[in-house]
Amino acid sequence: MKFRYRLPGTGQYATPDTAAFPAGWKRACLVVLAALLAPPVSWAEGQDFPKVSVSIAPIHSWVSQVSGDLWAPELLLSAQVDPHNALLRPSQRRLVEEADWVVWAGPQLEAGLQPLVSRIDAERRWTMTDSDVDLVLHEFREAGTLFATPQDDDDDHMPDIDFPGGDAPANAHRSGADPHLWLDPDNARKAFGYIATRLSELDPEHADTYQANAEQAVAALEEDVADWEARLAEADIRPYVVFHDGYQYFDRRFGIPFAGAVTLNPEQLPGLRTVNEMRQAMAGEAVGCLFAEVQYPDRLVQAIGSGFGLEIRRLDALGADIEPGPDHYRELMTRLVDNFTECT
Ligand SMILES: [Zn+2]
Repeated sequence: MKFRYRLPGTGQYATPDTAAFPAGWKRACLVVLAALLAPPVSWAEGQDFPKVSVSIAPIHSWVSQVSGDLWAPELLLSAQVDPHNALLRPSQRRLVEEADWVVWAGPQLEAGLQPLVSRIDAERRWTMTDSDVDLVLHEFREAGTLFATPQDDDDDHMPDIDFPGGDAPANAHRSGADPHLWLDPDNARKAFGYIATRLSELDPEHADTYQANAEQAVAALEEDVADWEARLAEADIRPYVVFHDGYQYFDRRFGIPFAGAVTLNPEQLPGLRTVNEMRQAMAGEAVGCLFAEVQYPDRLVQAIGSGFGLEIRRLDALGADIEPGPDHYRELMTRLVDNFTECT
């Protein structure tokens, strides 16, 4: 099932924030709605394949590439919602409780999954930010060179911003490893090998297939990475500003200059004073791009960027309108490369 609904000719994706929504795409929306409301598909009945549940679509794509044509893992969280604030429905809880293996980034990202995932046996879960697998991990960044840290800001919040989750206790993006680790393709490469090992333990009969699929995935990825590196190196990319600081694995891996984030924690929004400081700082910097994000409202980014003549573009770290499955990760990363090569 396809549910892409890119706005023609704009290079942007339709979101609830997009004011003008072409009527012809109502059908696409209904398809999306139906997909969201449909009960999750349960694991293949009568088959003796491993039951694997994965939290977010990019990492689900990695597992899908290794399971290949044999079976598909379950995806727990839609890429259309902010994983920092997502909760599981009762029907989805079963997909954690009954899984042979649960794969998630960690409590810094999918905070709503923590109570449930922490109750299952340690060998039945892979918490990527805290495991023996040798992934590339970065600490959370300090506020960008431009911007003050919102955490120090206790003045009144901007009155006209109604932000879902804005009043929730801040329990993400505070300490430990930055969980947006899928945006460094080196982590995809390392994950393919580990996923093949774990699936082979769970399903020894198909170990050769998992191993071959993982090797194929690594080879395809390496070709893509060479292409992404060449494209990003060729573009003379200027510093970027983004809504929340979720892209350091991408910008550090590919050498893209980061200017600052509106917030380090999407659950904690800056106040009016910080917004004004950001605007002052932007006036003296050669910021090339101002990125809103698909999973969050645009208003704060618009407030900070207004008057600077910067087109607000929209990033998507999760691939909200990309069909989940083996090709999802490649499409997601290619679009990010597209976004950043326009930032000149
Ligand atoms: Zn985040």
